[in-house]
Amino acid sequence: MNFTMPPEIEAVRDMVARFMANEVVPVMEDFEKRGEFPRELVARAGAAGLYGAVFPESVGGSDMGYMAAAVIIEEMSRQEVRFTSCNNQQGGTCPTCIYMAGTPEQVEKYVPNLLAGKTIGMMSLSESGSGSDAAGAMKTFARRDGDVYRIKGEKMWASIANETDVGILIAKTDRDAGAKGATAFIVEPKKYPGFTAKPVDLLGMSKAFRTNIVFLDDFVVPVENRLGAEGDGFKIVMRALQPGRLNVAAKCLGLAQACFEEAVRYANERTVRQQPIGRFQMIQDSIAEMATAIEASRGLVYRAAFSMDNDMPSNRIASIAKYHASQTAKMCADKAQQIFGGYGLAREYRVSWMRVYADMLYNGEGSANIQKIIIAEDALGYKPADRHHGKTNLRDVRQTDIAKQ
Ligand SMILES: Cc1cc2nc3c(=O)[nH]c(=O)nc-3n(C[C@H](O)[C@H](O)[C@H](O)COP(=O)(O)OP(=O)(O)OC[C@H]3O[C@@H](n4cnc5c(N)ncnc54)[C@H](O)[C@@H]3O)c2cc1C
Repeated sequence: MNFTMPPEIEAVRDMVARFMANEVVPVMEDFEKRGEFPRELVARAGAAGLYGAVFPESVGGSDMGYMAAAVIIEEMSRQEVRFTSCNNQQGGTCPTCIYMAGTPEQVEKYVPNLLAGKTIGMMSLSESGSGSDAAGAMKTFARRDGDVYRIKGEKMWASIANETDVGILIAKTDRDAGAKGATAFIVEPKKYPGFTAKPVDLLGMSKAFRTNIVFLDDFVVPVENRLGAEGDGFKIVMRALQPGRLNVAAKCLGLAQACFEEAVRYANERTVRQQPIGRFQMIQDSIAEMATAIEASRGLVYRAAFSMDNDMPSNRIASIAKYHASQTAKMCADKAQQIFGGYGLAREYRVSWMRVYADMLYNGEGSANIQKIIIAEDALGYKPADRHHGKTNLRDVRQTDIAKQ
């Protein structure tokens, strides 16, 4: 066992810390006030290597692996969780699906630009009637019409769909085949007709990074933009969600750390009865609970990253890490807000809105209940979580692997 972080990953953390502190934090609130997507800033983050840690250099990544990716996301989230709202689209599930299941031409055409933040991604799986049961209840349908598919239906919760250049969209090509009837498409909404994104009004969430309902009216996708074979869509997404869960767990960890740091600072500054509130035992109780849970989450997140870097079975540990870190983020956001008293509701303090992000991350990328089902069914011997263990290390992934699973 070695609990020391490699120096090259600590150097990456320092680089991300500087990037966030110098380039993102000073301007993010202005983008929020204008409700403007920070496209140029995303491109600068891409150029700095913030999205490509797990991808090989041949597609524009840095090949540093999942531990580096977890540390990057943790640090980004610690400083400005809103800016991590497109991490999945630029460096997570969206390019991972293309990289793992795409043809060499698709990979070359789309992945480098996503990692560089030059094109904006999307990952559209959910619908109003299908969230946790994503494939089973899906209604959106893609009909083959010569050299194109025409997609009809409505997707829900598609983050950044109002800005996307290139994204992944899942639709049924066979209504009666359950999960095996779902197909993945690389979509280009600005290039082809039939795609309309409408931002959803979400209480307390970013106005710069919007989540959308998407109306698809015979939306055109060329056949060459199908990802994998018809019916492979769900397999492709599930495979990409495994590292996706680690991303969300790392985001939760950074958010929990931010809440903790805000709480400690305020507890030392705020005086009641001529002493800092940090001197009160009940405030200390909260600080101790937060510090303990954060250290435990950090151990789990880094262990899941280590497993993925070494192609060890990682589904179970990724679910445990995601569940624990999202619970920790919720608990820390709640306690931080309480420590701020009435000021915890004032928008000028970020503890007033960080709690909404903790709630969102608790549900996103497989809700807490879904993680608990995975963990418990594995423990009870009903369904081993790592029964479909596939390679996670992207250096070794053969794009045809996906078809064999
Ligand atoms: C801000 C935001 C951004 C998002 N971005 C995206 C995106 O970019 N792309 C995308 O595809 N999706 C996105 N989502 C959707 C997100 O992944 C879903 O909200 C999530 O999967 C849960 O689905 P649901 O909301 O339909 O809840 P449901 O599936 O309806 O679940 C409702 C409740 O029932 C529980 N539940 C469900 N099944 C079980 C079970 N078997 N046993 C016990 N309890 C159960 C859940 O845990 C939850 O508490 C986003 C959501 C939000 C809020």
